[in-house]
Amino acid sequence: MQFIETRGNDGKKPKGVTFSEAILSPSASFGGLYVPQSLPNLDKDFLNSHLSSHYKTLALEFLRAFDIDIETDVLKEALKRYDAFDDPSNPVPLVQIEEDCFVSELYHGPTRAFKDMALQPFGYILSNLAQNRDENYLIMAATSGDTGPATLETFKNQNNVKVACLYPDGGTSDVQKLQMVTEDAKNLKVIGVKGNFDDTQHTLKNLLASEDFKSELKERGIKLTAANSVNFGRIIFQIIYHIHSYLELVRKESIKMGDKIYLVVPSGNFGNALGAYYAKKAGLPIEKILIASNVNNILADWINSGSYDLTDRVLIQTTSPAMDILKSSNIERVMYDKFGAKRTKELMDALESEGKYKLSNEELSSLQEDFVATFSNDEEGEAVIAAYAKKGYIMDPHTATCTKAYNEPREKRLPTVIYSTAEWTKFSSTVSKALGHMAKDDMEALKWVTENANVSVPPMINSLFSKSIVHTVVVDKKSIKGEMLNFL
Ligand SMILES: *Cc1c(COP(=O)(O)O)cnc(C)c1O
Repeated sequence: MQFIETRGNDGKKPKGVTFSEAILSPSASFGGLYVPQSLPNLDKDFLNSHLSSHYKTLALEFLRAFDIDIETDVLKEALKRYDAFDDPSNPVPLVQIEEDCFVSELYHGPTRAFKDMALQPFGYILSNLAQNRDENYLIMAATSGDTGPATLETFKNQNNVKVACLYPDGGTSDVQKLQMVTEDAKNLKVIGVKGNFDDTQHTLKNLLASEDFKSELKERGIKLTAANSVNFGRIIFQIIYHIHSYLELVRKESIKMGDKIYLVVPSGNFGNALGAYYAKKAGLPIEKILIASNVNNILADWINSGSYDLTDRVLIQTTSPAMDILKSSNIERVMYDKFGAKRTKELMDALESEGKYKLSNEELSSLQEDFVATFSNDEEGEAVIAAYAKKGYIMDPHTATCTKAYNEPREKRLPTVIYSTAEWTKFSSTVSKALGHMAKDDMEALKWVTENANVSVPPMINSLFSKSIVHTVVVDKKSIKGEMLNFL
């Protein structure tokens, strides 16, 4: 399988690359992204043959059908990471909350957010590639709270890869911060940045653009790569759980093989939704993908009107911070798939120079064949959390945006899978508030919610509060380079 470029080729980079190359250097010509030249076929035969497959077996066969240049033994080893999830026999449980509504819980991994689904196996594969090539990589991540912990966790003590993770000091939940600053391994560095997530991202961008930082890396023989969802090595693992959710519905006899369903995806950078889109395109019977946003509803505007406009927007902080985003990277891959490289480059160039673009009516209709979109504000989210807590199901604020979307009128009454991307324990203060108690910090919120709702806190969250803090550095933008060079 070759991987090609969303904005066409600049004559310097190769026209097509292997999977390994696409994940080790994920940036394509003109600032574009890599996409697979074709997709495996998820026809009825494939689906029927995996009706009783374990998640790992389904994943392995899917990856093999993708024909990527990673050996089967390496893939098998990577997929063993799912054995450390809560229930090794089924790492992604599907829980019914309404007659026709099912929650696919993607958060049963080590850091309690869906980032583990992809980053866990991806981390193993990347380190393995680096070792085979005898190369050393640095991954720099700016995080609003979920990517950081998941990236640190997957690479800790892995050979030939170092991770530096920047977080906004005061801009994450207590639990998210503890997950990062207590992560103890020689190859990991965690740095707080004074300011909000925007400042953090900015600091990282400047550092990555700095010529003397690049030459320092070169001198040390270190290559840079990225572990965010522009990396196709993450997207490939985010197609699999959509297939799994569908098969779970068939196994539960909630649908018959071939019946169509809706998927509801809480979206930010659109990696999760892109996985759903690829699954649909490959043949999984999906009626539509419902995109749920918070009040940073640029994706809802894009899907409902065809207009992507940054010019009159400022980022609003919400209680679903993983969806607080204005530049959503992965929609570029959808546009490439529908409109081709030339048009994608044109649209992305317009976004760069004018801060906006608008799809034609035809293009918009094509987008709406696959996607529907809606959004909710924090109050609506809290109301949903409270309402479902009464029915016995506790969910986090990101999941609440999906549940709100599910409860809105839809074209057809079809069974619906909503994706739960974080465990409530990562956002306990918001959940506690929704249930009527203002907690003074996460520790108290966790305690109050467990005492007042029928849920427990998993050991990896409880133990955070007694672990020692190993990363104490908080810097302003100027001191970041020095900190990084010390680490390297
Ligand atoms: C990352 C994240 C999202 C957004 O996912 P995308 O793939 O970036 O759209 C939603 N919810 C949670 C909890 C996340 O961590």
